[in-house]
Amino acid sequence: MRELFFLSAADFVVPQSLVEPGPLFSRTRASLSCTVAVCVRDNGDIVLVDAGLSEAACRDPNAILGAMRRRWLGLETNAARAIACQLESLGFDRGQVRAIVATHCHLDHIGGLVDFPNAELIATAEELHALSDAALSPAYRPADIAFADKLRVAQMTGPRHLGFPASLDLFDDGEITLLEAAGHSAGHLCVALNGPSGDFLHIGDAALLEWETGRGFEGPGRLSRIICNDARALSRTLTALRNLDALEKAPILVPTHDRRVFDTLPQRPGEIAADLGA
Ligand SMILES: [Zn+2]
Repeated sequence: MRELFFLSAADFVVPQSLVEPGPLFSRTRASLSCTVAVCVRDNGDIVLVDAGLSEAACRDPNAILGAMRRRWLGLETNAARAIACQLESLGFDRGQVRAIVATHCHLDHIGGLVDFPNAELIATAEELHALSDAALSPAYRPADIAFADKLRVAQMTGPRHLGFPASLDLFDDGEITLLEAAGHSAGHLCVALNGPSGDFLHIGDAALLEWETGRGFEGPGRLSRIICNDARALSRTLTALRNLDALEKAPILVPTHDRRVFDTLPQRPGEIAADLGA
C-alpha cells in the first residue's frame, strides 16, 4: 500500500448524554465525525473503507435525506466535505477509486458511492439484503445503490483473525482484511488496514466512540444500545475489540464517529498517526 489516511465527510451534532457516560439529562452536545479510510494501492488504485455522504447530500442534505432525518442526525456539512471533493483537492482523481468496502450499508457510510463511477461496492450479503428492504430501518436508503452497477458480496470464508470469527483478505496480501463484526447491524464488518502510516482497525459503528471498547467500562453506550440490531452479537464484537489490547502490537481503533480519534489520524498522504509518536 502506498498511502493510508483518513477523511471525515460531515459532523453529527448530538446530545452528549447519548454517546458519553454520565448524567442522562444534560444540554451539552457532542460533535461526531464521519470517518472514511483512504487506501492508495501500489498500482494507484484507491480502496475506500466506507464513503461518507454523497456530494449532493453534503451540498443539500434536506433535499437528499429529508429535513426530518437531517435534524435527527444533527447533520452539518457542505459540498466541499464530500469524500470525492476532498480527494480531488488532495490531487487524486475520483476515477481512481475502484472499490468501497462497506463496514455496513447505513446511509452515512455508503451514500458517497454514487460519486465514484469506477467503484464497486463490497458488502456482506446481510447488508445488501437490508438495503433492498427500506422498511427494515430508516438508516438504510435503497437509493444509495440505485445507480451502482457493481456490487460484490463479501464472502467471509477466511479464518478467525484478530479474535473475530471470520475474515476475508481482500487482495491476499494482508493489507486490507475484512472481519465479521455483527451487532450494530446484521452484516457489520471491521476492516484491518496495514499501511505505511500504521496498523489501523476501522471499526465502523461497532462502537460509536472509542471509550466503549475500553476496559473498565460497561459499554456499549446509550446510543449504541438504542440503535443496535443484535445486542448479543454487539457484545461479542465489543469483547473481541477489548481483547485486542492484549496483542503485542494492537492496531489503532478507528470508530467512524469518534472525532477525538479522527483528530489523531493521518489526514493526508505522507502523514502518520499522531500517537505513533514520530
Ligand atoms: Zn454511522
